[in-house]
Amino acid sequence: MASILDIKNLYKSYGSTEILKDINIAIEQGDFLVLVGPSGCGKSTLLNCIAGLEPITKGGMSIGGKDMTNVSPKDRDIAMVFQSYALYPTMTVAKNITFGMKVRGIDQATQDQKLAYVAQQLQIEPLLNRKPGQLSGGQRQRVAMGRALVRDPKLFLFDEPLSNLDAKLRVEMRTEIKSLHQRLGASMVYVTHDQIEAMTLASKIVVMKGGIIQQMGTPAEIYNRPANLFVADFMGSPAMNLIPAKAHSDGKGTQIEIARNNADPIVLLDTQNKDLPEDVILGVRPEDIADAAARGASESQQAECVIDIVEPAGADTFAVMQLGGKHVTARLHSETTAAAGVAQRLAFDLGKVSYFSPESGLRLN
Ligand code: ADP
Repeated sequence: MASILDIKNLYKSYGSTEILKDINIAIEQGDFLVLVGPSGCGKSTLLNCIAGLEPITKGGMSIGGKDMTNVSPKDRDIAMVFQSYALYPTMTVAKNITFGMKVRGIDQATQDQKLAYVAQQLQIEPLLNRKPGQLSGGQRQRVAMGRALVRDPKLFLFDEPLSNLDAKLRVEMRTEIKSLHQRLGASMVYVTHDQIEAMTLASKIVVMKGGIIQQMGTPAEIYNRPANLFVADFMGSPAMNLIPAKAHSDGKGTQIEIARNNADPIVLLDTQNKDLPEDVILGVRPEDIADAAARGASESQQAECVIDIVEPAGADTFAVMQLGGKHVTARLHSETTAAAGVAQRLAFDLGKVSYFSPESGLRLN
């Protein structure tokens, strides 16, 4: 079956400045694709290219199996939801939602039927006679989505739709968008700079930097096997620890040696990765460093570490130490005995670590 969205070798320049470089993305019907990356990496530009609001410089794209490279936005069978909801202030919610259909000359009975359907899907039936000024931010967001939904498009495009909402509402709306996606089975492309939003919503994530795709994969692939140092650092909170280390392989396994100030180096045994170069960056998630007593890992994956700072955070307690010249964070249980200035026996789960080349930044394992 043809991909619902297929972008091939897309380039986009403004004047002589190349903004998007060789973008290749394919998603299937029902996918929730999230484009994520730091501000200025080209996410919105890419979304606007998909929408047809920006012409592309080179390459092509199809939507629902049809070549849309040079097709005008209104004929692309897409609906876009922006962060500024762009509702008509003088119209009721119902009129806001049906206005587009009216303009397109759709008959009244169909309009009513579609309105009733989306109002029910979005649980906004009691709001239909209100004006946008009488709605909360979350309700306005829902109306904006309703306007997109009645079009029943092949593809929904969302540009940072939650960035105007406060933190609590963001989380609620995130859950709603996810549930809506599950109910409708719709195909979506969603732009955000928030990596947690990306992880929680996406079926596929594209991580971008400087107009270049760094990695495309499921949330689990991106989290567990980041393709390079940028992705490793960008996705996850607190961030993955990236520790310079020496690797010494001897056929049976690899000794990973991490230097310390005023103490012998830590040496851990990796039994899985047997042919690493000598200089590596060890990538280890905070949750993969635990109290040795709680984890019960083999002795060869444990080390005494002096904890510098202990930060209780409810269910977890974060312990920060210095390893390989870096601040390293461990996510421990709240009942941990770890205390500032005291050595704690910690277990490193080497079955889950990433290794990167210090020169290229690329993943090695
Ligand atoms: P993001 O959505 O990831 O924050 P954008 O797609 O908005 O990034 O912008 C990507 C880059 O393109 C930025 O460096 C921005 O300055 C540049 N850019 C965006 N729009 C224009 C434009 N109309 N003319 C020139 N440069 C632009």
